Amino acid sequence: RPGDEAEEAVPEGERWGAVALVRDVTELRRLERVRSDFVANVSHELRTPLTALKGFIEALQEGAAEDPATRTRFLDIMARETDRLVALINDLLDLSHLESRNVELRRTPLELASVAGAVVAMFARKAAAKRLALEQDLPPDLPPVLADEDMLRQVFINLLDNAVKYTPSGRITVRARAEPQEPLVRVEVSDTGIGIPRQHLGRIFERFYRVDRARSRELGGTGLGLSIVRHIIELHGGRIEVESEVGAGTTFRFWLPRAP
Ligand code: ADP
Repeated sequence: RPGDEAEEAVPEGERWGAVALVRDVTELRRLERVRSDFVANVSHELRTPLTALKGFIEALQEGAAEDPATRTRFLDIMARETDRLVALINDLLDLSHLESRNVELRRTPLELASVAGAVVAMFARKAAAKRLALEQDLPPDLPPVLADEDMLRQVFINLLDNAVKYTPSGRITVRARAEPQEPLVRVEVSDTGIGIPRQHLGRIFERFYRVDRARSRELGGTGLGLSIVRHIIELHGGRIEVESEVGAGTTFRFWLPRAP
């Protein structure tokens, strides 16, 4: 914009133009920061298990391998760290696929009872091991939703995996409802677990954001599960929200389009 003395002479439209330009640059800077934070996070997340692996390899080379008990213990840790790396890389690949512009949705009419039911069955053993009740509350007349089956399965897997991880006791429920005139079906995954403190609720869908990094790591989390879930729901034209109370439990609620 020319000098301030010219302000009076600048027509209204051009003044708005200048404001918009400033905002664009700010947005670009923000995106650039988000990108470099992401690269820093990925590097850190990759380096942590690799550093551990390197340490155990050196210990084994320097003689720890001679004691069978130590050797077994170290190899178990190394196997776990390797699993963690593989899980992280798989999540990163999923996320980059979901964020690429040419991601293809193979949408078909799906019965939630069958997609959710299959995933619930997958988690039955894990839930039983913690004595958690794992329940489905799906009305028999629930209309089918229009979604990509693999992606919808991924949503249930990530949400149930978290529900099981972060629930020491009680129950996990998958619920769905459709209002007669509504074009969207509402789905909920709720638990009676540790809950999420209010100040974190707005950020848990961000990549690598965790309430308790050490606990998530201990439980084998990558910090990417919820951002993958949100991407999938939004690609389907739906949205997701979370409601939680510390010590009482958490509900993830999302909406998917009903099949025509
Ligand atoms: P992670 O791999 O760490 O579980 P997610 O992206 O799946 O990563 O979740 C991000 C964070 O949100 C978790 O680290 C945890 O702090 C919190 N969280 C997610 N689901 C739940 C839940 N059901 N109960 C309590 N906290 C949860």
